[in-house]
Amino acid sequence: MAHPRPPAFGTGPAAIVAISAILLLMAASGSEPDFNALRERMVERQIEARGVEDPRVLAAMRKVPRHRFVPEDLQASAYHDGPLPIGKGQTISQPYIVASMTELLDPRPGDRILEVGTGSGYQAAVLSELVRQVHSIEIVPELAERSRALLQKLGYDNVEVITGDGWKGLPEHAPFDGIVVTAAPVEIPAPLLEQLAVGARLVIPVGNADQIMRVVERNEDGLSERDLYPVRFVPLVREPGK
Ligand code: SAH
Repeated sequence: MAHPRPPAFGTGPAAIVAISAILLLMAASGSEPDFNALRERMVERQIEARGVEDPRVLAAMRKVPRHRFVPEDLQASAYHDGPLPIGKGQTISQPYIVASMTELLDPRPGDRILEVGTGSGYQAAVLSELVRQVHSIEIVPELAERSRALLQKLGYDNVEVITGDGWKGLPEHAPFDGIVVTAAPVEIPAPLLEQLAVGARLVIPVGNADQIMRVVERNEDGLSERDLYPVRFVPLVREPGK
C-alpha cells in the first residue's frame, strides 16, 4: 500500500492525536508551546475558515491569551477546536463559538455589555477588547472569584465580575447595548429582554437537550428574533429557592 497521506490539520481524531503528541513532547522537554502561533492558527482555521469576518472580533481573538483562562494542566490544549473543563462542572466555550457570539452581538467601542455566565472569564476578556465596559455575572462564587482575580491580573480593567444569578440581569446598570448569555435557559428570562436598549442585541443559546443560538434585537417598534445554529451549553441555573 502506498503511504497514506498525512492528515490535514482538522478536527478529526488523527489530527487531535498528532497535535496532542507534539504538545506532550514539548511539555516533556520543558519547552512551552508557542502559544502565539497556536492562537494564530486557531483564528485562521477555526474562526475565519467558518465565516467570522468582523475585523475587530478577529483582532480580539488574536490578542486574548486563551491559555491563561484554562486550568494549567490543560494549557497545551487551549487552542484546540472545542470546549474545555474549567472546574465546578463548567466549561470554557469552543473558540469559534466565542468569536461567533461576539460577532453576532455587533459590539461598538462605546458599548456597555452584560455577560451572563462569566465561567473562565475568557468571553469577558474578548468583549473587554471591543467595548467600553463589560459587566459579567457568575453564579458559582469560586469561578467568579477566580475570574475576577485573573482578569485584574491580566489588566482587563473595564470588566466587572459580579457574583450572583444572571437570570435577573443587572437592573441597576440597565439598559445594555448588548447582552450575551453563555449558559442555556429553556426560555429567555424576561428581565434580560427588558434590559436591552433600543438597537441592542441579546445573543443566547436556548433549549434543553436541543439548543439553538438565538439573536433577539430590540427595535423602535419591538423585538425581532432569529435562530442561527444548534449548540450545546451548560444549563442556565436558577438560584436555589428563587
Ligand atoms: N463565558 C464562559 C463560559 C462559561 S460556561 C467562558 O468564557 O469561559 C457557563 C457559566 O454560566 C458557568 O460558569 C455557570 O456557572 C454559569 N451560570 C449558569 N447559570 C447561571 C446564572 N443563572 N447566572 C450566572 N451564571 C450562571
